[in-house]
Amino acid sequence: MKKSLSVKFVTSVTEPSDFPKPDLPEVAVVGRSNVGKSSLLNRLTGAKRMAFVSKTPGRTQLINFFRLGDELMLVDLPGYGFAKVPVSVRQHWEKLVTGYLFEREAPRLALLLVDLRREPLDIDIQVRDLLVQGDVAHAVVATKADKLSKSRVRQHRAKLERIYGAEGKVPLITFSAVTNEGRNELWKVIEKHIQRAPKK
Ligand code: GDP
Repeated sequence: MKKSLSVKFVTSVTEPSDFPKPDLPEVAVVGRSNVGKSSLLNRLTGAKRMAFVSKTPGRTQLINFFRLGDELMLVDLPGYGFAKVPVSVRQHWEKLVTGYLFEREAPRLALLLVDLRREPLDIDIQVRDLLVQGDVAHAVVATKADKLSKSRVRQHRAKLERIYGAEGKVPLITFSAVTNEGRNELWKVIEKHIQRAPKK
């Protein structure tokens, strides 16, 4: 397990034309706003200070690039799915994220974060479909596992497996930023993918 890697902020990008040239294997992280993305990133990296902070919903949409040691680039995609977000913001999200996924060397792995307690929204499924369409390897991370009892975790997990698991082909990891459940498993999945040769 990774204990602690240096986390270095590289750049924030608002337009696809500004993406940095890929020089490390990339792992992208995406999910609905408030799903627990910042908490997961801080836990995953063991960042001492809050390197990853939630953004004000629906305003500036950025893709943030962070270098983790010499091993990988963590790419923090903007959250989606806020109610009452203007159409122009949604369109910008789409342009930015599809630009990142499709007009560039694709990330080795995308982590799609979903809340373990909640029913999937259409938008979660649409983002998953986007990843499938772009042939981007992905894993689903079900967050906030500490908020459910063990038996409920099993129930919800089984349901998400049916929806996202692609018959065992897509890893599903239950995660908690409170208890650290799932951290080692998540690192194993990440390591497996960054060691693989790029597709394109
Ligand atoms: P983001 O908007 O996706 O970056 O979400 P944040 O990481 O800011 O988390 C949103 C809210 O959920 C915050 O109040 C967090 O404290 C809480 N949260 C995030 N992860 C967990 C978790 O694993 N367990 C619990 N109980 N709360 C969490």
